[in-house]
Amino acid sequence: MDPGRVINKLKELGAKRILLQLPDGLKPNVFEYFNELSKNFSVMVSSSGFYGACDTGTMDEWKNVDAVVQMGHTEIPNINYKVPVIFEEYINEEHRSFNELDLSELEKKNYKNISLAYSIQYRKSAEELSQFLSERGFKVSIGRHDSRLKYDGQLLGCNFSPLHDQESHVDCHIIVSTGVFHALGAQLSVEKEVFILDMSEPFRLRSMKAEAERHIRRRFANMARALEAKKFVIVVDTKIGQYRMKLAEKMMKEVQGMGKSAVLAYSNESSPIEYENMMADCIIFTGCPRVATDDFDRYKSPILTAQEFNMIFKKKGNGKYIMDEIVTVDAMP
Ligand code: SF4
Repeated sequence: MDPGRVINKLKELGAKRILLQLPDGLKPNVFEYFNELSKNFSVMVSSSGFYGACDTGTMDEWKNVDAVVQMGHTEIPNINYKVPVIFEEYINEEHRSFNELDLSELEKKNYKNISLAYSIQYRKSAEELSQFLSERGFKVSIGRHDSRLKYDGQLLGCNFSPLHDQESHVDCHIIVSTGVFHALGAQLSVEKEVFILDMSEPFRLRSMKAEAERHIRRRFANMARALEAKKFVIVVDTKIGQYRMKLAEKMMKEVQGMGKSAVLAYSNESSPIEYENMMADCIIFTGCPRVATDDFDRYKSPILTAQEFNMIFKKKGNGKYIMDEIVTVDAMP
């Protein structure tokens, strides 16, 4: 954190009481940050987990603060945040040499035009990789972002707009990140082959094709279980960047129009046991799409995104998987 910058911004806002949100990786620094900010402000630390710029606290927390300081993430520009939020981006500055990177997979497949994208921490690494690939004769491009993202080439687990921007004129995509979260979502959302360059170990390019295909098969099996469902719970997530009430209301109408029962449920932290207690046959989750696509094993009943509902009940996509991506959310009341 650059305390001077944050403190100046908070002073400009006239903030007195602030909520400080730290991702797990930065929580060990909580005393340092708290003490620094407490010299000027009354600070409350959020002890709950949070999911990123789509989750800047709850209504109850906002009532007690003038501003939120969120570390490690980048704003989602088209969200109308209820209280001012200062985002302290975390960009991994570690320089890594790409000289040992094995490019044979790209060469074997004759992939020459490559779109590069990244999770926000690896923005700088993606720039370095772009230069490295260009020097080796590849044509590298960075896709334009839509209004939910701040930078070209940036990805969220619910928004792959830079890849869609490039999909028609590249041979493949490379995602610079750690873990498969962004790269798997990317491969579920585009047709062209996606490679992850995992910045942890092993440091190599890895195709996401097979993993995404396995994942899609498991999703279709989960979705098929919903076909016989009679009682649906349609969930609206109350996190500010996941709030899609209009979509949930639309889903209510769709389900009721099929002669099925449906209830609308509010949730801030989705808990499988709640839906088990409701004896729901199927959950349609309109908040973060990754709850349904990645965490479905935790739920007894099938849990679907709105896109998945349309795929199985409305035959949308003609058998092709459609990733639920978020471009805009509704303004919260
Ligand atoms: S909605 Fe999900 S994927 Fe999108 S930013 Fe929030 S946590 Fe990440």
